[in-house]
Amino acid sequence: MNALVRLLLVVALAWGCATNPATGRRQLMLMSEAEEIQVGRKSDAEIRQQMGLYDDPDLQAYVRAVGTKLATASHRPDLPWTFAVVDEPAVNAFAVPGGFIYITRGILPFLRDEAELAGVLGHEVGHVDARHSAEAYSRQLGAGVGLAIAGVLAPSTQPIQGVAGAGLGVLFLRYGREAELESDRLGVGYAASQGWDPHGVPGMLSTLARLDAASGSSRGVPNWALTHPPAADRVARVQEAVAAAPISSGLTNASTLDRHLDGLVFGDSREKGIVRGSEFLHPVLRFAVRFPEGWQVSNGETQVSARRDGQGNSVMLLELVQGTGPVRQVASDQMTKAGWRETDGEAARINGLDAYVGTYQGTIENTAVTLHAAHVRAGTQTYVIAGVAPSQEFAASAGLFEASIRSFRTLTQAEADRIQPSRVDFRVARGGDTWESLARDLGRGIISASSLAIMNGRDASVSPRTGERLRVVVGG
Ligand SMILES: [Zn+2]
Repeated sequence: MNALVRLLLVVALAWGCATNPATGRRQLMLMSEAEEIQVGRKSDAEIRQQMGLYDDPDLQAYVRAVGTKLATASHRPDLPWTFAVVDEPAVNAFAVPGGFIYITRGILPFLRDEAELAGVLGHEVGHVDARHSAEAYSRQLGAGVGLAIAGVLAPSTQPIQGVAGAGLGVLFLRYGREAELESDRLGVGYAASQGWDPHGVPGMLSTLARLDAASGSSRGVPNWALTHPPAADRVARVQEAVAAAPISSGLTNASTLDRHLDGLVFGDSREKGIVRGSEFLHPVLRFAVRFPEGWQVSNGETQVSARRDGQGNSVMLLELVQGTGPVRQVASDQMTKAGWRETDGEAARINGLDAYVGTYQGTIENTAVTLHAAHVRAGTQTYVIAGVAPSQEFAASAGLFEASIRSFRTLTQAEADRIQPSRVDFRVARGGDTWESLARDLGRGIISASSLAIMNGRDASVSPRTGERLRVVVGG
């Protein structure tokens, strides 16, 4: 059990009941405000370490300034409000108790203006103000789910933790429909009282509802749409609050937001590895693996996986392995612990690196499965790259697995330096430009045509107008 869970277990014993100043509801409070802050600070440290903050001091200061103004308008202005942009490509925002609010870099290019940014941050401030976040934490604790943040494929400066915990999922709890509506209304109130156009709340809700729940979700960080009830009806429900907002509030500051979006990393970042076609490249850890041609590669929270499109039970996995002993020993320890039985194996060299290549048998859901893996030592890290298939189907994929395993290689510093992420840019539309052509030629398939249209507040069926200024994604 990690320290945070232990802390929460202690905190959970302190039952109480209080009237919430934001909602007027009497709530069963499992945490005092001091405990809320204590839990928040602890989570904040873990989030900063595990997700990482996006490295752009100007952007961080901008988001902090917008958030702080909103928090001033909340019913709990004295909380240690903290606003940060986390280095995640998923489209989301979340809050932990005590006033710690995070927004992903992935959501930012889909916000039309500063009023929508204030809408998202205001919504999250609402969750803390109304103590939804504290309630959700307490509920989650009651369900006995651990809060350990799962290990990530990250440089060795970040300790790799066990994957048994609930991962970051705890940060993306469903608060429930009423709580979401309440936060929407509170967000409108804060934004309007600070001069922003309250239409930013329904505006961001409709945009986020248009984004496919699956697109941009990665590394175990779900998209907003997966953690929030359908937004269409929320847009209607929040209109009353918008109509009641002071007429004087109309600030949108669209160009200020645009200025901060210029050059923003889109999709995978160098620090967490980049998928290019069927290849996974990690310019910071300096290695690359080529998965079978045409397989879909996904860069997950604890592992990179690859699957043949459509059907088939064959999967390839790439993970960091703990252990610093001889690579043969590390392989044997890991596989035995995971319940695999080695049927064949030998020491090997893969592109100049020490490795141990083995074949293993196991059972998953009553099906006999065969796994072919290489444990590879590169620098101080050990990686495992494996292909798994039901034993009956293994022969059909064995050649592909072997080729991928043998493709593991280190990158030279020069190669690593050339690997750059995709970024948000601006472009004046020319005659003949379509969302498809812009997504393909500039975005190199990193962004879909429909997402690009949504990013511009437009419908994908209507082409950009010649001469209009567009947000685009430029491939790395
Ligand atoms: Zn919410």
